[in-house]
This record gives sequence, C-alpha cells and structure tokens, in this order.
Amino acid sequence: MKNLHELKRLLSAPKDIAIISHRNPDGDAIGSSLALYHYLCGHGHAVHVILPSEYPDAFLWMPDIARIVIYDNDPEHVKEICERAEIIFCLDFNSLDRIDKVGEIIQPLRSKKILIDHHLHPESFTDYILSDTSASSTSELVFEFIDRMGHKASMSLHAAECIYTGIVTDTGSFKYSTSARLFRIVAELLEMGVDDYRLQDLIFNSLEEKQLRLLGYCLYNRLEVLPEYRTAIITLSKEDYETFDIVRGETEGIVNYMLKLRNVVMGVFITEQPTIVKISLRSKGDFSVQEIARQYFKGGGHRNAAGGFAFQSLKATVRRFKEVLPQYKEALQAVNLC
Ligand code: 5GP
Ligand code: MN
Repeated sequence: MKNLHELKRLLSAPKDIAIISHRNPDGDAIGSSLALYHYLCGHGHAVHVILPSEYPDAFLWMPDIARIVIYDNDPEHVKEICERAEIIFCLDFNSLDRIDKVGEIIQPLRSKKILIDHHLHPESFTDYILSDTSASSTSELVFEFIDRMGHKASMSLHAAECIYTGIVTDTGSFKYSTSARLFRIVAELLEMGVDDYRLQDLIFNSLEEKQLRLLGYCLYNRLEVLPEYRTAIITLSKEDYETFDIVRGETEGIVNYMLKLRNVVMGVFITEQPTIVKISLRSKGDFSVQEIARQYFKGGGHRNAAGGFAFQSLKATVRRFKEVLPQYKEALQAVNLC
C-alpha cells in the first residue's frame, strides 16, 4: 500500500470510522470487518460495521456481531454513520455496486476511503488501496494490515478469531488459495489462542435439518451433468425455496459439491431470488469462471470462485448459460486435473 505512513498518521488520533462490506456477506466479509473493528476499537477509535444485508446464522457466535448495522433493517442509521465517519474502510469487495444503496451514500462523501480486498480487477473509488489477488481472503490482508501498522503483537483474541473465520471460510477449510505465507499466519493465530477446532465446529456444524435435506434434494433431483463440457449445474426455483422454507444464505456451500465429481471442471448453481436470478460459479485448475461471471452475468470474483446475476427468468438464465458454454468447450476439455 502506498502512503502507509500517511495512513498511520491518520489513525494515530481517535477517529470516527465506518467499516463496510458486501451484500449477502460471507465468512470473510464478516470476519475481516469484525477483526478490523476489534483492532480499531482497541486503539481508541469510534467504529461501526455496516452490511447492506443480513448475515447467516452460522456466524451468530462471533464477538460483537450483534453490533453490526444492517442497511436493509435501518437505512437511516447507516446514512448517519457514513456521513459522520472521517474514515471509511471498504472490505472484501472491489466495486461500489457490490454494496447496493450504501455505495450511493458513500460515493459523494469526502471522508478518507480505504479499500482492503483480494478480488480481481479492483475499481478505484478509494484514497488508499490494499489489494492483493493472491491473498486467500480479505481477512488475511487485515492481518497483514495490522502487522504493517506495527500492532501484530498486541492483537486481541477476538480479532484473531475473526481473522481465522474469514480465512477458513474463504479457503473452503484450507482447500484453495493456500500458500506458505497463509499457513504461517494461521500458525500465529493459533499461538495467539485461537481454538481452531471449536471455531470450525461453530461455523460448519450449524446446519438446520431442512438445509441438509435441501442439499440431498439438490444432489438427487436437481443435479445435471454435462460431460462434454465437464460442467455440472444445480438450479433452485422460488417454489423450491418455499417448499424447503429456505432463505438465500441457507444454500451456502451447495455449489462446491459439484466439484467432487472427478471429471467436472465447472460447477454452476443458479437460483431464483425475489428480484434477480443469482448465479454462483466454481472451477478447478486454470479454468477461469471469473471471466464468465463478468462477461455474461454482470459479476466477478476470483478465477475459481465467481458469481453474478441476471434480470431474466430462471429458465432463460439457464438457457443463456448453456448457450455460452460451447465457446468454452475447448478450454474446459484442456484442463489437466492430474
Ligand atoms: P458466491 O458464489 O459464493 O456468491 O461468490 C463467489 C465469489 O464471487 C465471491 O468472491 C464474490 O465476491 C464473487 N461474487 C459473487 N456474486 C457477485 C456479483 O454479483 N458481483 C461480483 N462482482 N462478484 C460476485
Ligand atoms: Mn473474500
């Protein structure tokens, strides 16, 4: 990050600070935001965390999660916090449209804005950028940020637990985006007192019965495998959401099951939401789903995990996706999984 000294100076006296992450927040969005929250509160700042929409129940145990202000529930309070903030941290997203109306609120504000993120192609809407697309997670970058500010040794256990949560969720429990650097950081987190077994239990063993049944339904009834494209698709309609009494955040993780098939290179999960159709993409090897999300579904993300959306019906979105597939046939067949 350029101007680290300037940033240090800026944070050397107590400030009013807002931390914002993306809609439909995942473990990394919540973990990185709360880690930074604990760090900054510990240094005397007045801090608020803002999310555009609700977080999944799997994270209810996280320290101070109840203090997060959700735009969907309290838009006026969010506006007030943003307008009062002298510094705004933007975490785990790289373009303002990922934070819905909150983006429109902060865009014209003259407060200092700082981006910490690991997604490809960050847009420049902040004064400072800490962007590293090789990082496993934004939480890993928050760890590095605290380190570069010279405060790693005094990191609180709460901050360390939040960072661990972001790392373990964004790496799919240390399956992807790992590096020697990441494992060193995780070792340091454990030395700080993080109980990794307890946290993994809290995060991953918290499904409700209906969610596990939905997973079974998806795999048995909704899985479509297209061997010629080494692609698998699962779709869920509005009626499915009603039948299983499920809301959006409760389908987390289903997309990853398709990659368990030996010959599948791309997994696609397409779901009908109240106003949009959401598409989640995962891939193996060097096949980039980020490009498909960006070019055809107004989205983005990472090479092996990306997402987007369409303002069409579920059927039309699936049809469109299948129309796009042939141009990737060669690339999909060329992926070497050995
Ligand atoms: P998921 O499929 O779990 O929703 O998202 C996977 C990855 O794709 C995440 O890194 C997320 O940030 C990115 N992503 C998902 N949906 C969108 C979207 O609508 N726009 C953009 N730019 N990125 C998305
Ligand atoms: Mn992330």
